[in-house]
Amino acid sequence: MTAKNRSKRSCDYPMLSFEEAWRRISGALKPLPPVQEPLESVTGLALAGDVIARENIPPFAASTMDGYAVISGDASCERSIAGEQHAGVKLDLAVTEGTAVRIMTGAPVPAGADAVIPFEQTAEANDRVRLLSIVGPGDNIRAIGQDIAAGETVLKKGSVLGPAEIGLLAMLGHSQVPVHPRPRVSVMATGDELIPIHAIPRLGQIRNSNAPAIATALRVCGFDAVALPQTVVDDAAALERAIVEALSDSDMLITSGGVSMGTRDLVKSVLARLGEILVGRVAIKPGKPLTFAMIHGKPVFGLPGNPVSSLVCFEQFIRPALRRMSGLRLLGRPCVDVRLEQGLRHDPDRTEFQRAIVERDPDGFTARGNGPQGSSRLKSLSGANALFVLPAGTGDYPAGSRVMALLINQPEASEDLPTGSLVRKFQSPWG
Ligand code: AMP
Ligand code: MG
Repeated sequence: MTAKNRSKRSCDYPMLSFEEAWRRISGALKPLPPVQEPLESVTGLALAGDVIARENIPPFAASTMDGYAVISGDASCERSIAGEQHAGVKLDLAVTEGTAVRIMTGAPVPAGADAVIPFEQTAEANDRVRLLSIVGPGDNIRAIGQDIAAGETVLKKGSVLGPAEIGLLAMLGHSQVPVHPRPRVSVMATGDELIPIHAIPRLGQIRNSNAPAIATALRVCGFDAVALPQTVVDDAAALERAIVEALSDSDMLITSGGVSMGTRDLVKSVLARLGEILVGRVAIKPGKPLTFAMIHGKPVFGLPGNPVSSLVCFEQFIRPALRRMSGLRLLGRPCVDVRLEQGLRHDPDRTEFQRAIVERDPDGFTARGNGPQGSSRLKSLSGANALFVLPAGTGDYPAGSRVMALLINQPEASEDLPTGSLVRKFQSPWG
């Protein structure tokens, strides 16, 4: 295909605001259909249905202390020891007036007993125990169903499965869990100039750094690339073949490069032929040529090739998109209000995401840019813990002024993305 017969040039796509681009992307995505997965492999996934307890926890009255099971109303302060009850074994022991049973934490309370007195409050000699303090009915006993009652909703649909949730599911005997699966993602770097990491570049060639960077960005948010990222040359037929093949085996495709205005930037036109482009240009910096298409119901993100643009767009669009497809409710990173140590230049035509370092000080947060902000300068992202969100329509920011910073090392804390107009609503996670 030549530049002349391309169906639509990049500049024919409307320039969308950051907010509108995300609205289109999120509107096209929904959680993947639920599947049953073994408990061992659901860490971090969203539960696809409510979990109702089928049992009481604890299922039997259990001692919460190591001590003696007794009848609390028994007036005698010395009892003969009728035996010993460990956790895990149910003996036929019973407590009657004048007797006590030695009992360990977690053991079933023997018939007749209504309290446990801890060892520390007793003195034992010659198979007899003296009670040094008073116990009342129910003391140091976990009643049946005290922690979880049968029929209770223990976990709600959409809960994120972390250690406590997985512990609860195990406690209740759920070895298989209904979850939204993680999307399977293919990554494809495009560009005639790309060579493998181990190769020595000839003039004009560069190493493909985006593929491992994007694969790592995926891994950091809990997703693995389907296969090792492949490299495709700037040729429409080769791109089309590779895109079709990648999509046949994945729920999402991420490409890098080839979405700008150059005559060899062919990704947009190939995507337009295969499906529908919903986002073709966005008024953001970096990442103006960001492209989003749906092809046979599957999302494709065309990231710009510049290393910073591709990772910033991953952070702003792909990470929340993957979370949405995974059924996770929280999509937006936390934002804080920071005081600028140095002034910032800002182009009012675009919402800008400048790489920054935020630090806490006694008065709140201070921040500085992480060096020159060119979209090829990957060092600006290395060590950055935040992105300044400088909304379109605002100009330069003098030193000492306040801006919002998106904390890119903190877990998602809000259902909305902190887009320019929403930025003011966001609260610091530290209050
Ligand atoms: P493009 O988006 O294809 O116009 O590329 C923009 C810039 O990013 C060019 O300087 C490319 O050489 C560079 N670039 C494209 N793909 C990659 C990649 N996979 N790794 C590193 N740099 C890239
Ligand atoms: Mg290129």
